[in-house]
Amino acid sequence: MSGPRVVLATHNAHKVAELQGIVARVRPDIEVVGYDGPEPVEDGTTFAQNALIKARAAAAHTGLVALADDSGVCVDVLGGSPGVFSAYWAGHAKNDGANLALLLDQLSDLTDPADRAAHYTSVIAVVRPTGEETTVEGIWPGRLATAPRGDGGFGYDPVFVPEGSDRTAAELSAAEKNVVSHRARALEALAPILAAL
Ligand code: IMP
Repeated sequence: MSGPRVVLATHNAHKVAELQGIVARVRPDIEVVGYDGPEPVEDGTTFAQNALIKARAAAAHTGLVALADDSGVCVDVLGGSPGVFSAYWAGHAKNDGANLALLLDQLSDLTDPADRAAHYTSVIAVVRPTGEETTVEGIWPGRLATAPRGDGGFGYDPVFVPEGSDRTAAELSAAEKNVVSHRARALEALAPILAAL
């Protein structure tokens, strides 16, 4: 017997792969389908607002329960930036390499690891076609390295060193990242809601 169908409201292939892996761990019978409908303008100023904007659009377009993640890297010394602007920190071209290079350059005078504290945040929104809405948050604490290392993951992973690790997130395997990441932590908080679908 197959479980419920859930649409993942993201066009980011890396996030789709991560979320599929994590959902399969939490609730293997859920059928996760991709979303290729219109992308709404993410004009929220918080992760939760943007996650809800994306999930509402996908739920309305597909008639399915929709999951959407909005996420980013938050650097303490920058007051939590790039935050919701992580995807286009170096401009709207959404260039991961340019975003990462700009962030490293901005912090280049800070060599003490304690000054380079940062965390990833993921807020996952669940919107049902009935209009019922929930959001959960996951945080992955760490710091920024001074130079990129590793070629796994995406975005800021080559410079993000998770707390308790010597490796960057890009030096972790997908399986390792998927049990500890901000997205994994948010989805764990969502497990009771997924269980009730
Ligand atoms: P969103 O797709 O609008 O939520 O933007 C998320 C952005 O945050 C991505 O483009 C990355 O720059 C960054 N980001 C979020 N999660 C991760 C991650 O797991 N690794 C690396 N970068 C991430």
